Amino acid sequence: MDHFQYRGGILHAEDVPLPEIAAQVGTPFYVYSSATLERHFRLFEEALEGMPHLVCFAMKANSNLAVVATLARLGAGMDVVSGGEYRKARAAGVPGDRIVFSGVGKTREEMRLALEGGIRQFNVESEPELEALDEVARSMGLRAPIALRVNPDVDARTHEKISTGRKEDKFGVPIARAPEIYDRAAGMAGIEVVGVDVHIGSQLIDLAPFEAAFLKVADLTRELRARGHDIRRLDLGGGLGIPYARDNSAPPLPLDYGALIRRTVGDLGCEVEIEPGRLIAGNAGLLVASVIYAKQGEGRRFLILDAAMNDLIRPAMYGAHHDIVPVQEAPAGAEVMPWDVVGPVCESGDTFARARLLPQLEPGALVAFRSAGAYGAVMASEYNTRPLVPEVMVRGDHVAVIRARPSFDEMVNRDSLPEWL
Ligand SMILES: *Cc1c(COP(=O)(O)O)cnc(C)c1O
Repeated sequence: MDHFQYRGGILHAEDVPLPEIAAQVGTPFYVYSSATLERHFRLFEEALEGMPHLVCFAMKANSNLAVVATLARLGAGMDVVSGGEYRKARAAGVPGDRIVFSGVGKTREEMRLALEGGIRQFNVESEPELEALDEVARSMGLRAPIALRVNPDVDARTHEKISTGRKEDKFGVPIARAPEIYDRAAGMAGIEVVGVDVHIGSQLIDLAPFEAAFLKVADLTRELRARGHDIRRLDLGGGLGIPYARDNSAPPLPLDYGALIRRTVGDLGCEVEIEPGRLIAGNAGLLVASVIYAKQGEGRRFLILDAAMNDLIRPAMYGAHHDIVPVQEAPAGAEVMPWDVVGPVCESGDTFARARLLPQLEPGALVAFRSAGAYGAVMASEYNTRPLVPEVMVRGDHVAVIRARPSFDEMVNRDSLPEWL
């Protein structure tokens, strides 16, 4: 469920008609619903109710300061994957002890930054990283709290590019080697073992791979405890999928995911951390664009929009589906026809959808991409010297621009000429 509904034939974000926002900020733009963000966060809170837990929003899904602050006010923790995300989390008011630091390539500078500012735990992904963290922490007279990210060799059965828990993926340490690495970590003066971490991929539409991974983590936890390690937290990662196409997919609900967590690791007495990104932000955002031209090609009809792959790269990068709907609802019984929905960028990959059934749309008409709140704006670029797409947040009938579209001067002034030109 989200808060983007038609009222009187016009698509709204909560209580605000989208054409009003388009008139104010121009197109294309992203718009987020505070109520949807909050609702999705609370679904996870409810799913884990009664268990010690922390829901850490995976900031890489949407790191706009206002989105992060909205969730932080509700008590969310953050899962960060860079020094930049760490600093943004802090800037949004998230205390260090609610931030977990993930990622395969943390630099020593990033480690220092987080240790200095306060950190709940580092999710360590390799032995060289563990050694580096030990050194950095010792040099600061500190002990770095860690969970080792284990790779359980479970196929998440999701898109190739977002599967992370198979042995051929670059993430984590092989679960079979974990005990010996924990033994090493226990001997490091700069390291404090606090838990185990796993994250097997994104956009999972089935609970079975989670179950397989969590059971392996539970076994490992028992083994580690038997070896004398104080495992008090389990970070079970993110990855719960969302319905991108309204009509045919029904991914598991957070409540069922929570029940699975209880069933698989609930008896261990650990504090559970989860790191949902997509499920919190995905359906809390739309990308709104205008039609520039409706063009009749050789046997195909093209709807050319002012949004492009640089604004929303998921279709080009993952072959991802986004529902695309007219902002002005077509009258009941209106004829629909197949359109190739494309952007203006000079690549054939700049295609959002092929043969998508939509009504006749005239230049200037607004369309909305649904489920664009996660891995949308954060992946945008200025490719083709197109200004970075702005972001807007709605709360009830309030509208706030939470990232303005840069002016041409701002864009061009970021470049500079060498002195010989
Ligand atoms: C990407 C990522 C997440 C979030 O995944 P979603 O599919 O957005 O829930 C969580 N944890 C880690 C370590 C990640 O890399």
